[in-house]
Amino acid sequence: QTTQSVALILGVTGIVGNSLADILPLSDTPGGPWKVYGVARRLRPPWAADNPIHYIQCDISDAADADAKLSPLTDITHIFYVTWANRSTEIENCEVNGAMLRHTLAAVVPNAPNLRHICLQTGLKHYTGPFEAIGNIQSHDPPFTEDLPRLDYPNFYSTLEDILFDETGKKPGLNWSVHRPGMIFGFSPTSLMNIICTLCVYASICKRENTPLKFTGTKSSWNGFSVGSDADLIAEQHIWSAVDPNAKNEAFNCSNGDVFKWKHLWRVLAERFGLEYEEFDEGEAVVSLAERMKDKGPVWGEIVRENGLVETKLEEVGVWWFADVMLGLEGGLVDSMNKSKEHGFLGFRDSKKSFGHWIDKVKAHKIVP
Ligand code: NAD
Repeated sequence: QTTQSVALILGVTGIVGNSLADILPLSDTPGGPWKVYGVARRLRPPWAADNPIHYIQCDISDAADADAKLSPLTDITHIFYVTWANRSTEIENCEVNGAMLRHTLAAVVPNAPNLRHICLQTGLKHYTGPFEAIGNIQSHDPPFTEDLPRLDYPNFYSTLEDILFDETGKKPGLNWSVHRPGMIFGFSPTSLMNIICTLCVYASICKRENTPLKFTGTKSSWNGFSVGSDADLIAEQHIWSAVDPNAKNEAFNCSNGDVFKWKHLWRVLAERFGLEYEEFDEGEAVVSLAERMKDKGPVWGEIVRENGLVETKLEEVGVWWFADVMLGLEGGLVDSMNKSKEHGFLGFRDSKKSFGHWIDKVKAHKIVP
């Protein structure tokens, strides 16, 4: 086909959406030159203002809004679905997230005759169950591989996959890919789950209050092997699958290709913020980040003012519940990148360098001092 590549990114201000918006418009990106539409729910934030994309403010949980804003985009060739909504139960997550994807596809698929690929991002909770199930159900035995069957527990990732399979099955020539990253290292101050930004805010508050940078997780995660997924690497895998015939109609794990220990990354975090490196002390009762940070709104306000930072709300940039879950996971919940490599995607990142790189970006954008 000779049509120009035209991307629609759903969730363009999110942690991977932001990387896709950076990478797709570059002149040497595979499948390019790309024209890029990017959808997010809110007004375009100042830290996402310099990408050469067509920004569309649209609430895809509202069928009418999705139809009004997305059905006129008849030149779309590829969809990158990197968005989600978080509700209090997984049953509700299935309903809300299923509706968002359905509204998007109902607006685009019948109106974009050259649409040929849909990339759907889910994650490693495919293998562990959703947050509410972790620790309550038996997860798969790691390392996780893509051929493992679904767990017998509601999971909005399965809802999204089923909608994707159903819709693409109806239209010959329309292909799909599913991408399953683990904890993402990337940049988005409004992401619902951003470990980098959250830890940067925690370190900034420790620095300001002259308190030690305590690791608030478990001994198992401090010493055990963990995996991370660099947001640019995930974007590269999305783009690879969108243009490479070997990647059609397959699910792929997407992690950096190495393992790390939190005790090593903790040193990087301490150094970046000029703090003493604190060893994890088993003998000390762990106080969660949610508990430690619950009254820190005013301190954060002062840090922002005094350092001339971008205005942010502490509850947006510091996602304490998420960091508590990530730092408290058992070590060893690792995935395999073999399938991705066998199909031709050889991208990787050094997790320690990736961790430092994204901290630098959060600082460079003046989200933290
Ligand atoms: P995110 O929270 O970083 O970004 C979400 C984006 O979607 C934002 O641009 C937001 O504006 C947009 N959005 C939200 N609701 C919308 C709506 N109703 N209409 C239009 N736009 C809307 O997202 P993410 O973390 O990249 O999550 C995408 C997928 O990746 C999810 O399934 C998530 O579970 C998975 N995942 C995330 C992580 C992580 O560390 N963040 C790790 C593994 C898997």
